[in-house]
Amino acid sequence: MTVKGQCFEAVFGRPVKVLGEAPGRVNLIGEHTDYNGGYVLPTAIPQKTRVEMAPRDDGLIQIATMSVRGGTQLSYRAGEESRRGLWLDYVQGVTAALRDRGVAVPGFDARIESTVPLGSGLSSSASLLVALARALRAMLDLVIDDVEIARIAHAAEHDFVGAPVGTMDQMAASLADENTALFIDTRTLAFERIPLPAEAELLVVNSGVTHQHASGDYKTRRAECERAAAALGVPQLRDVDEAAAQRIASLPAPLDRRARHVVTENARVLAAVAALRAGDLVRLGELFDASHRSMRDDFEVSVPEIDDLVESARAQPDVFGARLTGGGFGGSIVALVKRGCAARVGRAVVEAYARVPNRRATVLVGEPVS
Ligand code: ADP
Ligand code: MG
Repeated sequence: MTVKGQCFEAVFGRPVKVLGEAPGRVNLIGEHTDYNGGYVLPTAIPQKTRVEMAPRDDGLIQIATMSVRGGTQLSYRAGEESRRGLWLDYVQGVTAALRDRGVAVPGFDARIESTVPLGSGLSSSASLLVALARALRAMLDLVIDDVEIARIAHAAEHDFVGAPVGTMDQMAASLADENTALFIDTRTLAFERIPLPAEAELLVVNSGVTHQHASGDYKTRRAECERAAAALGVPQLRDVDEAAAQRIASLPAPLDRRARHVVTENARVLAAVAALRAGDLVRLGELFDASHRSMRDDFEVSVPEIDDLVESARAQPDVFGARLTGGGFGGSIVALVKRGCAARVGRAVVEAYARVPNRRATVLVGEPVS
């Protein structure tokens, strides 16, 4: 059913009862480390997902989203969740995960609206899951903390939707804010908020090349990491450090390169946290650059369009560093830029990108380029 541009009352014929919101995220450093039990360092972006909700007493769950095909609506019955391979699975995943935890989820109507672009590496999926879980927490007066909300969102995406993702995105959507970087140990979900430097700003540019996490390449990388960990005799690559460089180098290709990325990337997250604490933007920028090279050459999750964006950002003055952010195979880059310069750098990068026919980049964080 089409519900284009309609407010909650227009769609469902009654007022909103509760609201849930959650931001998208950009990962500063620590890519493909979360499902290896390692470290990550995301921050929240201004874009967010908003879920308006009101309970029903007939067990029906009706969901309208403004983000798919301009506005569309689907429904299912509480307790009868089944995977359909559609956006609705993200909603069904949350109600199923709550039920698995003993929560009696009733029927409800919900309207979803999001300013996080879908499938661009800024985690629209986790922001939807967390916003929805928060709306349900408010509606049902659930006593659940934000780490548990992240666990529920992760269960929804990993177990129900079937995307083999780690816990970074859901933790970021649930716990990050725009003024701090969220340093997470994904093995324990212990986290710490590290203030972002006042002298720098972030620029995020979308390549327009879209990815699909549930698709093959991401799964392949995850499986390669598991094989590398098994060959090294550890539960997860988190349990190996740079002192094991020789043993890593002796793994059969491409497991040697995959393991090297994860192990060096974990070390780079720790170094980035130290650089943030010391206010050392030059060092932080070097770590961004090194992370990109590692993702491009060792983990092989970049694409030529992303490499072009990274190179043209790095060629600009006042850029400390730039890298692919998110799972890869397309998506966005993040650059660390001297405060006040992101708009100029963004314009230059978008312009250079458009010199190749049929390519259009967009600034997602920083000043939009019209
Ligand atoms: P990312 O999280 O990087 O944006 P994903 O592929 O992980 O990309 O998640 C995108 C998917 O999440 C969409 O294809 C859709 O199924 C679902 N989704 C995200 N936001 C919304 C929304 N506002 N309304 C409906 N579905 C959404
Ligand atoms: Mg996602």
